[in-house]
Amino acid sequence: MTAIATRKNNWVNISFFTITTLAGIAGAPVYAYHYGLSTTEVALFLFYFAATGLSITVGYHRLFAHSTYKTNSVVRFILLFFGAAAFQQSALLWSSQHRDHHRFVDTDRDPYSIGKGFFYAHIGWLIFWKHETNYDNVKQLQNDSLVMHQHRYYNQWAIGAGIVTPALIGLLTGHLLGALLIGVGLRLTLVYHTTFIVNSVCHMFGTATYDIDSSARDNWFTAIFNFGEGYHNFHHRFAIDYRNGVRWYQFDPGKWTIAILEKLGLAWDLRRVSNFRILAARFAGEETRVTRWLSENNNFSSMLGANIQRQVRTRYDDLHERLLDWESAVQEYHSVLKARVDIYSKELRREARRRVAVARSTFRESRLDWNSLVRQCSAA
Ligand SMILES: [Zn+2]
Ligand SMILES: [Zn+2]
Repeated sequence: MTAIATRKNNWVNISFFTITTLAGIAGAPVYAYHYGLSTTEVALFLFYFAATGLSITVGYHRLFAHSTYKTNSVVRFILLFFGAAAFQQSALLWSSQHRDHHRFVDTDRDPYSIGKGFFYAHIGWLIFWKHETNYDNVKQLQNDSLVMHQHRYYNQWAIGAGIVTPALIGLLTGHLLGALLIGVGLRLTLVYHTTFIVNSVCHMFGTATYDIDSSARDNWFTAIFNFGEGYHNFHHRFAIDYRNGVRWYQFDPGKWTIAILEKLGLAWDLRRVSNFRILAARFAGEETRVTRWLSENNNFSSMLGANIQRQVRTRYDDLHERLLDWESAVQEYHSVLKARVDIYSKELRREARRRVAVARSTFRESRLDWNSLVRQCSAA
C-alpha cells in the first residue's frame, strides 16, 4: 500500500529532469543549428522515442501493471530493457504506484491524484514528494525473475539501456554529442511529458463516456503522442482490457502492437471486455447524465417533469433489456456453433442466426428511441 505522500524535494529527480530538459530543449536545437542532423541522430531519436514510449505503454502499463495479456520472456526482456531506458522507475515500482492510482483514484492515496492539481499530477509528485511503497499490490509480479532483476539493478538497466547504448551508437558513428543531446536528452524530455499528460491532461480535459464520475477522460489528441494511452476514461472503466482506444478507428498503437504480437504467436490470452458490457457502460453513463440534467433543469414535482423522468426510466430499462436479449442470442449462437455436428446442426444454426438477427434489430430500434430522447434532453 502506498502511504500518503510526504512533501520532500527529490534532488536526484530534480537534477535529472533539469539536465535532460536543458539538453533536450536548448542543447539539441543549438547542436542541430551548428552541426546539422545526420541519419544517426534522426534514426536514434525516432527509434528510441518509439521503442521506449511503446515499452511504457505495452510493457509497463498494459502487461506489468494490468496483466492484459501474456507473453514470453524474450518480449518481456525487450519491454523491460526499453522501459528502463525511459527512466520512469522500475517496472515493479511503476506498476505498484499505478495500481494504487486506479484503486484510490482522486484520493490522497492516489500517488498522482489530480485532486492535488495539474502540476502535482503531471510531474510535481515525482520531484517534490516522497512516496513509501511496500509492494503489497504486486505480489504476483515479484515471481517474475526478469522484473525483479530490473527492479534490483534498476540504475544499471536504465543507464545501460537509456544512455550508454545510444552513446555507444553515437560514438561508433562519430556523433557522440548528437546522440547524447538528441537520442537521450530530447527523446527523454518528449517521452516524459507525453507519458505525464496521461496523469494530468487526461484527468482534466476530454470526454467521460464510460465512467462519468471518474476524473479520467478520453482525449484523442493526447493519444496521438502517447501510443494510444489518451483514451483514459475507457481505460479506468475497463483496465483489464488490452485496448485503450477500443473503437477500431481510435489511434492506439499500443493495442495494435499487442495484436501484432498475438498474430506472430508472441502474445496470448489477450483480455477483451465484451462489446455488450462496453455498450452497457456507455448507456448507463448517458442515463445518469440525462437524469442529472433533468433534476437540475426540471421540477420533478410538476406533472411534466415527473412524466419525462418516467419516460427516461422506461426507455433506458427497455434498451438495457434488448441489449441483454441480443447478448444471450449471440451466446446461444456460439454454443450451437460449438455443438457436435449432426444432421440437425444446419437447421439449428440457421435458427440461432435468425434469433440473433431479430434481437439485434429489436435492440437497434430501442437504441434509436433512446438516442432521440438523449438528444432531446441535451438540446432542450
Ligand atoms: Zn488515470
Ligand atoms: Zn492503467
